[in-house]
Amino acid sequence: MKKNKSALSIFSTASAIIACNLFTFFSAYADPNDNGANQNEEKLEPWQQAQKTEVWEPVPPVVGIQANAVPSDAIVLFAGSTLDAWVSELDPKQAAPWKVEGEAFTVAAGKGGIQTKQHFCDVQLHIEWRTPTGTEDQEGQARSNSGVFLQQRYEVQVLDSFENKTYPNGQAASIYKQHIPLVNATRPPGEWNVYDIIFNAPRFDDKGKLKKPAYITVLHNGVLVQNHVEIQGPTEWIGRPPYKAHGCAPLSLQDHGNPVSFRNIWVREL
Ligand code: MG
Repeated sequence: MKKNKSALSIFSTASAIIACNLFTFFSAYADPNDNGANQNEEKLEPWQQAQKTEVWEPVPPVVGIQANAVPSDAIVLFAGSTLDAWVSELDPKQAAPWKVEGEAFTVAAGKGGIQTKQHFCDVQLHIEWRTPTGTEDQEGQARSNSGVFLQQRYEVQVLDSFENKTYPNGQAASIYKQHIPLVNATRPPGEWNVYDIIFNAPRFDDKGKLKKPAYITVLHNGVLVQNHVEIQGPTEWIGRPPYKAHGCAPLSLQDHGNPVSFRNIWVREL
């Protein structure tokens, strides 16, 4: 009997130790919002409490801004003088057939669009464009039409929309036939316009099914005109085609038969 009592006592002591350890273990992982944790917080100096929400990794890489306002990590697609980063859209084996003059190049009407040699997915794109003067006799979509196509499929419209009426989902800075710009920030013909575009490419699963649509944000001359809008599928003049799976793809510029000029084009991969 004594032996049993002694065994019982050892068992009780061991149980108490295990329970105590379990309590300590679970206390360490207790809800930080419970009273115990809050009491501990109160014991910390303010600077120690503040340290708990400091995140030290990862450290953002340093990006310098060069004299021409191009970020140091950008891929320059045109900085004057040469269209080496571009090829013909009709025949990508051929050089870009558009005309370079000084700091800019201009659509060569009828020779087809141009596209970058490099393929891109998510990007920040900077591009400047200018429509010609002396086009007052042309109206609507016929007045200085071109376009910036992300991944060769999704058009941010380029058009002389300065005092030129057209359907708003087809005016400058529209996502053509999909999203009307929030405001019309177009400068008069002969002046340079600037687009800063943030584009998140669509994602597809292994079977080619859309997992996530594309999203786009556009600033026109520094003014927000498209605020993270969802792209509903490839741009079309007629109808609304569904997404078709694709990978990273070139940027392209549209030949719509009008001598629109471009300059200062750079892109940052995101
Ligand atoms: Mg267009």
